[in-house]
Amino acid sequence: MGLRLKLGLYVLLSVLAVLTVVGYVRIEAERSIYQDEMVKRGRTLLRGLAIPCGVAMANNEIPALDNYIHSFAEEAASLDLKYLAALDYWGRVLAHTAEAEYGKSYDDAFTLQALVSREPISRTTTLAGEPVLEVAVPVHSGLRWGTLKAGFALTPMELRLAANRERTILTSLAVSLVVALIAFAVLSMLVIRPVLSMEEMARRFGGGDLRARVSIDTGDEIGCLAVQLNAMARQLETYTSSLEKLVHERTAELVGANAKLLDVNAQLDKLAKTDGLTGLFNRRYFMDKLGFEVRRSDRNKRSFSLVLLDVDHFKQFNDTHGHPAGDELLQRLATLVELNLRSIDVVARYGGEEFVVLLYDTGPDEGTRVAEKLRRAVAEQSFAHAETQPGGRLTISMGVAFYPQDAKDGASLVEAADRALYGSKAAGRNRATRFDALPQT
Ligand code: GH3
Ligand code: MG
Ligand code: MG
Repeated sequence: MGLRLKLGLYVLLSVLAVLTVVGYVRIEAERSIYQDEMVKRGRTLLRGLAIPCGVAMANNEIPALDNYIHSFAEEAASLDLKYLAALDYWGRVLAHTAEAEYGKSYDDAFTLQALVSREPISRTTTLAGEPVLEVAVPVHSGLRWGTLKAGFALTPMELRLAANRERTILTSLAVSLVVALIAFAVLSMLVIRPVLSMEEMARRFGGGDLRARVSIDTGDEIGCLAVQLNAMARQLETYTSSLEKLVHERTAELVGANAKLLDVNAQLDKLAKTDGLTGLFNRRYFMDKLGFEVRRSDRNKRSFSLVLLDVDHFKQFNDTHGHPAGDELLQRLATLVELNLRSIDVVARYGGEEFVVLLYDTGPDEGTRVAEKLRRAVAEQSFAHAETQPGGRLTISMGVAFYPQDAKDGASLVEAADRALYGSKAAGRNRATRFDALPQT
């Protein structure tokens, strides 16, 4: 149940309860006022009637007495008179509005008290199931002659009170509703609206809208609460944004550091597997590749070729033109070899002026063709200072071995190629020799 409904019901029930109690008290007060009024009126009227009745009783003029009683009863019909009786000194009925009562003697407690009382007395009682107000006044005419006793019906008064009660209840309901509506409107403006707007702000803030604020300037406790709430929200927003900034900065730093690390790693990786002079792969990397290729070949049942390549008379070149010229030559040679191979083949500097080539998925015939192609490319290339070399040009010698035909692992394959290379040197250089073409020892 919402706050509005609760407060509305609370106000409505409170006002209704207060008005009901007030209405009840008022009706009870009205009842006693009415009764007092009836008693006074009854006494006054009976006192007035007691004067001529006293004279008639003193003179024993019973017909006159009877006449007074009946005339009075006729005139007092509008006063809800139920009965009127004239009793003698001993309580015997001398005259009565009901003929059947003539001659009777009353000995009820009220009558007995009335017979001896010097003052008028009254009581409320029930006659034939109907509430009645009984009034008795003494009759004097020099002496005490008797008592006048009358009963006034209370039912008409009760009916009037009941009608009043209904009116009171309806009025209370209407007034309660109006008061509740007014109270509701006032409370809504002063309490509920500010509370709901604070609730809305807290909900938005909790949902992630850190800029959510509440604007209440009532200056009372609720206003103070709103100010505190805003201050708290501001603090949280500042704290969160500085935290976010810090995280952002740290993340950027980390991203930068990571990129640098990746870069350095890539450089390290490249350095770890590259030869510094020629830019080709180094021997260690090549041996890894060779091991991998041996395993792949075993699995796929595919052959590959290995070419070991050595510059002829390179010592002489160095001695003649100097080490730097030798370096430059090695660089140019590396480029030339690479250019004459497929991009998938692996070329590495094996050491000094020796290079090694791994030709993927290449059998003996194709491997031999590639080696021959390399030999021709180098022999036909015009390297600087090559004219001083024996034969007037720069040449290379090669040993070619095939896996799995010539060896059982990478190291023995290199060894086989080396022996074939030695064979090329021995045979006069500028040539490629297959391991399987070497004379068997
Ligand atoms: P062969 O035809 O029998 O191979 O004769 P060769 O002179 O090439 O063989 P040798 O092994 O006697 O000489 C190799 C030379 O290669 C010796 C060395 O000075 C040279 N060398 C090795 N590494 C480098 C290098 O990185 N730079 C230069 N400029 N020369 C190198
Ligand atoms: Mg050598
Ligand atoms: Mg050499």
